[in-house]
Amino acid sequence: MPVETKTTCPYCGVGCGVIATVANTGTVTVKGDPEHPANLGRLCSKGSALAETIDLDGRLLYPEIGGKRADWDTALDLVAAKFSQTIAEHGPDSVAFYVSGQLLTEDYYLANKLMKGFIGSANIDTNSRLCMASSVAGHRRAFGSDTVPGTYEDLELADLVILTGSNLAWCHPVLYQRLAAAKTARPDMKIVVIDPRRTMTCDIADLHLAIRPDGDVALFLGLLAHLAKSPALNPDYVTAHTQGFGAAVSAAAMLSMPALTERTGLTPEELQRFFHLFETTEKTVTCYSQGVNQSSSGTDKVNAIINCHLATGRIGRPGMGPFSLTGQPNAMGGREVGGLANMLAAHMAIENPEDRDRVQRFWASPTIATKPGQKAVDMFKAVADGRIKALWIMATNPVVSMPDADAVRAAIEACPFVVVSDILRETDTTLHAHVLLPSLGWGEKDGTVTNSERRVSRQRSFLASPGEAKADWWQVAEIARRMGFDGFAYTTPVQIFAEHAALSAFENDGSRDFDIGAYADMDATAYGELKPFQWPQPTGRVRQETRFFADGGFYHADNKARFIAVEAPVETDRRDARYPLTLNTGRIRDHWHTMTRTGKSARLSAHIAEPFAEFHPRDAMDIGLRPADLVKLESPHGTVITRVLVSERQARGDVFVPMHWNDQFAATARIDTLVSPLTDPVSGQPAAKNVAIAARRF
Ligand code: SF4
Repeated sequence: MPVETKTTCPYCGVGCGVIATVANTGTVTVKGDPEHPANLGRLCSKGSALAETIDLDGRLLYPEIGGKRADWDTALDLVAAKFSQTIAEHGPDSVAFYVSGQLLTEDYYLANKLMKGFIGSANIDTNSRLCMASSVAGHRRAFGSDTVPGTYEDLELADLVILTGSNLAWCHPVLYQRLAAAKTARPDMKIVVIDPRRTMTCDIADLHLAIRPDGDVALFLGLLAHLAKSPALNPDYVTAHTQGFGAAVSAAAMLSMPALTERTGLTPEELQRFFHLFETTEKTVTCYSQGVNQSSSGTDKVNAIINCHLATGRIGRPGMGPFSLTGQPNAMGGREVGGLANMLAAHMAIENPEDRDRVQRFWASPTIATKPGQKAVDMFKAVADGRIKALWIMATNPVVSMPDADAVRAAIEACPFVVVSDILRETDTTLHAHVLLPSLGWGEKDGTVTNSERRVSRQRSFLASPGEAKADWWQVAEIARRMGFDGFAYTTPVQIFAEHAALSAFENDGSRDFDIGAYADMDATAYGELKPFQWPQPTGRVRQETRFFADGGFYHADNKARFIAVEAPVETDRRDARYPLTLNTGRIRDHWHTMTRTGKSARLSAHIAEPFAEFHPRDAMDIGLRPADLVKLESPHGTVITRVLVSERQARGDVFVPMHWNDQFAATARIDTLVSPLTDPVSGQPAAKNVAIAARRF
């Protein structure tokens, strides 16, 4: 009999439920899970091609040391000894883990516990830093916690959905399908897309604002100043539940209409139309994604958006609220366990001595990190200059995905000891590892992930473990044990999940947002049957309310939210005579990250077969480029050669290039070699958009 397993798609942060069926012949097919609340049976092209990407071609099946097969004991002993020796000689901050939103929550929890509670450093950061760190920072500034207030259903209930810095149609396709269906059912619903490029998402938009790169702060400052003088202002909510309104509005009011049009690149008519739509539509959701987060002003953008929702009290009620769309399948799970270098487990704060004490007591750990560790960009700089001497990379490919990617490759090459845990033997990153540890992939591993609406779902195994591959949590536990640490005697992922749930409830009187204490006593049977649920789920009751903050109750000490008096960056145009174009990177519909998985599917690769740079026709003409020419792109950091696409969708002066291709698929198209290591000063998230480049025919 064919065997069906309910699991979760491993790609984007929508977190769709998948039913995988293994036939008697061993053939695997997938379909959407009609009972999963995120997708209700839908899948996008990537999710529906999952069965095409699970073959063993290219898999890393055995541990390797120096490129030669080794047994697990030898490899684990070596890693533990090297890390212990480095820490003994140079201190805990001389080692680091660089992990991933592809890890399951259980993997993430254990890596965080080992680094922060036992090694005693906070040098654990994640590729989620490249994805949503500015949303985390913005939430914490405004709400006192990293809380996503709303749910996916709000997009369907809203009368106005604003999508800023989000190509929802390609990057969160099932959510786009839900939104498009809602608009079909209720044609009066309005959709605004704010994006320099006319993306596929604009096909359902009533208004497309082709904003200048990084013009978002100015736009939402202008909106706040407008709302402050309009009937949409909710003075009762502002007085009862917030602080800092006056200062925020004063900062916003400093921008005149000419300054607004100059900073945003939009006409006064476009601005007024947008302001009027927001003002007159109570049920408004503002969704934002990487166009907001991947910016040197990303955190301010997030707070400029949240300010407008606080001013109108449009938060936490059906069809209302700011909504951060996470890129990765488990970026949210990583946030829950403190997988960022500046956070502690269970949404506690590393800078708070009471939180540190609480976590250390719960873990019964010998130490606890007392200060934030190196965030991703700084981590690789610390590898480059020798401060970090031993590095463990799990489930990510930074030689392709980090900004200034050539410098990151050089740093990893020069690092005295590099361990990589991965499912593939040859990626741009594994090539530089001293030790390779084979990990389980999707369909083989077992654990939980959390999607953008705080919904925890199971990824379940339905395939045998190939070769000697092992779960990432098992690898962490074995290394910890061999480094001489107690507290890592796990034999199953449910033990880790239950501990994670117990920590979320430990001494939590409701003053912390993340609480899944209801699952602290979970056993293997319950874990096996676990249905998707939204947090919080405190101990002893099932919480019915799925939204936060309709009646205040924020997580600052006075329970009030904070308006943040942000200012629009004065200079957002980085171009000059030598680098006269602006590069914006992004995703395409049918590939995921660095293509290590989607690159296996011929069907997915058929959508767009090779990397491209998209130019406005006038720019292409000025440079002397014709469609399908090869073009050489240059920045101060690197060079890329790729195919030319000429399109009216592109704004003049801007060039769009997808982020996916790597040296395994196209030897000259690692686009992040061009991206500068500039970061947001609050969140540390790199600015993968708005990069000054030059282009010439190759
Ligand atoms: Fe997977 Fe995202 Fe597509 Fe859903 S929308 S099937 S989670 S890639």
